[in-house]
Amino acid sequence: MPITPMEVYKLLPKTNCRKCGEPTCMSFAFKVINREKNIEECTPLFEDDRYSRQRDELLKLLEPLKEATETGLIVTEDLCVGCANCIVVCPVHAAEDPYGSAAGSGPKIEDPIFRLEDGVLKVINMTKCRRYGKNRILCVACRENCPSDAIRFLEG
Ligand code: SF4
Ligand code: SF4
Ligand code: SF4
Repeated sequence: MPITPMEVYKLLPKTNCRKCGEPTCMSFAFKVINREKNIEECTPLFEDDRYSRQRDELLKLLEPLKEATETGLIVTEDLCVGCANCIVVCPVHAAEDPYGSAAGSGPKIEDPIFRLEDGVLKVINMTKCRRYGKNRILCVACRENCPSDAIRFLEG
């Protein structure tokens, strides 16, 4: 199940103290989910023992963020069957590497988003993904075309 900003918010101190640089705890929660802020930037949560239980719960809740890439995309390598569907359907691969990876052969560019290594999908450069950055588009093409559910996104 994806983590929601509300789940994060519920475990924050909810004082809107602004020490994290955000105007409210809710906006901080959104940015944590979007990976624009680290949970450690909420200093009261880590410095005030009154929040120790909430802090432990929150760190557990946010555990999947560690395995996610910059865009929130997560590849479960054990589930990958190496079909390359995700690479072929990716609009970025199609635009930048039409005769290489997007055509089902090895990449002809140096920094593709994905590459198959020993029959398993590896993330090479997720900053090229359409989900990356402030003007991101919530593309789901790779996930939707994976036959084995090896690709998922943090936010669903
Ligand atoms: S530092 Fe923590 S408690 Fe203060 S506004 Fe930010 S998220 Fe809320
Ligand atoms: S989300 Fe879209 S742009 Fe990003 S890797 Fe998947 S298919 Fe490519
Ligand atoms: S579509 Fe899924 S199974 Fe196929 S290479 Fe990509 S991650 Fe692996």
